[in-house]
Amino acid sequence: MKFLCVDCDRQMTFEERQLPGDGTLAAAFRCPKCGRVIALLTNPMETQLVASLGVKIGGRTLHEQPLETVRTMVATGRDDAFTDDRHRTTDNVPGWSAGAQERLSRVPNFVRGMVKRIYADYAKERGIAEITPAVMDVARSELGLEGM
Ligand SMILES: [Zn+2]
Repeated sequence: MKFLCVDCDRQMTFEERQLPGDGTLAAAFRCPKCGRVIALLTNPMETQLVASLGVKIGGRTLHEQPLETVRTMVATGRDDAFTDDRHRTTDNVPGWSAGAQERLSRVPNFVRGMVKRIYADYAKERGIAEITPAVMDVARSELGLEGM
C-alpha cells in the first residue's frame, strides 16, 4: 500500500506508526515535496486487511493473513494510484516560486498541507500559474488568513 500526493505526483513516505495492541493502527505518511501529511487510522478489522496486504510499516512487515479476496480487490482497484508515473499531467496545478516554497516551509508541519492547498486553490481559481510571496500576501488578506 502506497500513498501518492496528487499535487506533486510523489509517493508519500512513511512517517510514524502506532500499534497500541488493541488492534488499531495509526500511520502517517508525508509528501517529501510539499510536506502534506495524511494519517491512516484503522480499526481492528481494517488492521487485519492492511496486514493481509503484507504492508511494511515502520520497518516491519506485518504477518500476512488470509484475506485473499479483499487483497485481490484492493490490488486491482486502481493500478495507477500506486505508481510513480512521471508522465501524468498536472494541468492547472499552480507552481511555487522559491520564495513561496521557503515561506511555506516555515508553516508548522501539521497545517502545512492544508495551508498549501488553500493557496493552491486560490491560485487555481484565479488562473495564477505561479504562487509567489506576493500572491500569498494578497490571498492571505483576501481570505482572512492572517498568520498563515
Ligand atoms: Zn506533495
